[in-house]
Amino acid sequence: KSKAAKKGQALFFNTALDEQVKRDFLIETELRGAMNKGEIAVHYQPQISVKSGDIIGVEALVRWNSAKLGAVSPADFIPIAENTGIIRELGSYIIYKAMSDIKALNDNLPVPLNVSINISPKQLMESDFVDSVMQASRELGLDSQWVTLEITENVLISDLSVVQPTLEALKNNGFKISLDDFGTGFSSLSYLSNLPLNEIKIDRSFIDKFLSSSHSESLVKTIIAIGEFCHLSVVAEGVETQAQFDLLSEYHCDAVQGYLFYKPLPLSELVEKCRSHQNHTHSVGE
Ligand code: C2E
Ligand code: MG
Ligand code: MG
Ligand code: MG
Repeated sequence: KSKAAKKGQALFFNTALDEQVKRDFLIETELRGAMNKGEIAVHYQPQISVKSGDIIGVEALVRWNSAKLGAVSPADFIPIAENTGIIRELGSYIIYKAMSDIKALNDNLPVPLNVSINISPKQLMESDFVDSVMQASRELGLDSQWVTLEITENVLISDLSVVQPTLEALKNNGFKISLDDFGTGFSSLSYLSNLPLNEIKIDRSFIDKFLSSSHSESLVKTIIAIGEFCHLSVVAEGVETQAQFDLLSEYHCDAVQGYLFYKPLPLSELVEKCRSHQNHTHSVGE
């Protein structure tokens, strides 16, 4: 390659990097004020039991609609919130919001729903994390049996001497633990039997390739078998087609989440969908 071309390439990378740094800084600055400005919302994606077809729970997913930046994806701002310490305030805001929304919803449902809340490694490692979720659950009157905390495999490689007792304490207080994005990280199979887990979630990337790649199909099949063996419930995320659902059902996956059923919904829409889903399930079953 010519010197000029190399120089051009270097310039391109520098500029791209520069843009990224600028955007990250802008996100950080705006995120600090976002909660007070009411820009942070929590949406809920229903989880469906494969066996009964009922909505059995929801996953809480944070949404940020910034006046300056527009809608920013959690995939973009959660890592920045983590690196800057903003996650502490943001994380507890999400926990309170999700618990109070689902408490209000459950008060009007014949069968209560579970809420799954994503927890960042930094949050989980805070020394007062267990106390703070217990306090939220007590204050809001949402029993811990309806709350699942989703952690990722990455937290398990960080510091097991901190993570293990934290998870034990959560379990002893009635919370459930789910291992999110299962299969994408570096967790060893021994964690599955040693840690107090209740659930694993098969990452969307595997469900994506599920029908087109026999490798992904065996992988999904194996994850479901491992879950069964370890007495963990298995949830598949990112289910977009009927064909994917049918195969997951054939392999006895426990629950599914995905656009085939519902996108993440604001609370008001979730309330509506819970009503119509129930009516629908009943009319089908009767
Ligand atoms: P995740 O926890 O694995 O969440 C699943 C993601 O898949 C969500 O993206 C959800 O909207 C998306 N999804 C669900 N069904 C489908 C589908 O059928 N097709 C496709 N293409 N996508 C689907 P989202 O909301 O953008 O969140 C991305 C990630 O950001 C989450 O991955 C989670 O790691 C993180 N995150 C989201 N909310 C929170 C939060 O409140 N706290 C923390 N710490 N992290 C969060
Ligand atoms: Mg999740
Ligand atoms: Mg996931
Ligand atoms: Mg994911």
